[in-house]
Amino acid sequence: MKLTAYEVRKDEENKMRRYAEKCGVEELVMTELLLTEETLDLAEGASGVTTLGQSVINETICRKLHEMGVKGYSTRSVGYNHVDLEAAKRYGIRVSNASYSPHGVAEYTVMMMLMSLRKYKPALYRINVNDYSLDGLVGGELCQMTVGIIGTGKIGETVIRNLSGFGCRIFAHDIYEKEEVKKYASYQDLDTIYRECDIISLHTPLMDSTYHMINSDAIEKMKKNVILVNCARGELMDIESVIRGVEDEKIGAVALDVFENENGIYHHDRKTDIIKNREMAYLRQFPNVIMTQHMAFYTRQAVDSMVKCGIESLAAFAGDKDYFCRLV
Ligand code: NAD
Repeated sequence: MKLTAYEVRKDEENKMRRYAEKCGVEELVMTELLLTEETLDLAEGASGVTTLGQSVINETICRKLHEMGVKGYSTRSVGYNHVDLEAAKRYGIRVSNASYSPHGVAEYTVMMMLMSLRKYKPALYRINVNDYSLDGLVGGELCQMTVGIIGTGKIGETVIRNLSGFGCRIFAHDIYEKEEVKKYASYQDLDTIYRECDIISLHTPLMDSTYHMINSDAIEKMKKNVILVNCARGELMDIESVIRGVEDEKIGAVALDVFENENGIYHHDRKTDIIKNREMAYLRQFPNVIMTQHMAFYTRQAVDSMVKCGIESLAAFAGDKDYFCRLV
């Protein structure tokens, strides 16, 4: 069995070799390149291909993979917005995504809340230039706050469990309510979340119904000095409205691990390039805005699971077997 792995990061290589050996893969091709029409030849003779989530798996790619005899495709990411599942189905290509523990992202989210609340960004800047003053750095206490969690799936629920130890009031919102979540939080409609919460954190997938859900109307309803946290998808926020909210001092702080149009920027070294994302550059300079490069998921445990799912599913599909995170 031959497998071709695209978008392979250095930290994945050894894990990939290990899982491939375990699954009886005879030939493993690893490349850091994206899977495109130009790089498809690397998959010649492979029964499965895997990518990390930046390659666009469209109709043409699916057709060409099918013509090459590829049976399975795996994305080593949880999200699969970049895959045309219908086309994959039409061409008989089985598709899987990755599954990993929600703890890494959930812990990171709580860290973002605390960093915003305690003004860690300006404090860190000051210490680097021997400015030990306190002026402007007064923070708040999480235990006094109401925190709103929008989306109580795997990550949102774990954030809620983590927050339950801090003694804050927790509001939740989801289109489906979970009994387990009700032990720690009370479900509310979105307007109540916007009106009552001091901190609002997003944990929904990107869909038509959630695209730009944080817009000027939503921000208008929020408390002054609200802290907004987004470790889900950049497109959940209309960033122009968020910028206006920060400029008008309606929003107290913003913590973003994701950004609309981050593809091609995040996870690359772009320090000598001209980056064309004005919003990203402008928002980053505010003292009350924290931004990180889509790294909430990035723990040793998660990387291991992503590689494991990516390789094991392709080996299963090559042998006409099912896999637990099969999408198509
Ligand atoms: P999940 O599918 O387990 O949970 C999503 C929840 O959102 C579900 O409970 C669903 O019912 C709810 N939902 C869907 N539409 C909704 C709507 N319109 N209003 C309210 N709730 C709605 O997903 P998850 O694994 O918890 O992931 C949550 C988010 O985190 C996703 O956007 C995912 O892409 C993102 N994520 C980010 C990182 C990172 O590194 N920053 C890593 C993993 C996942």
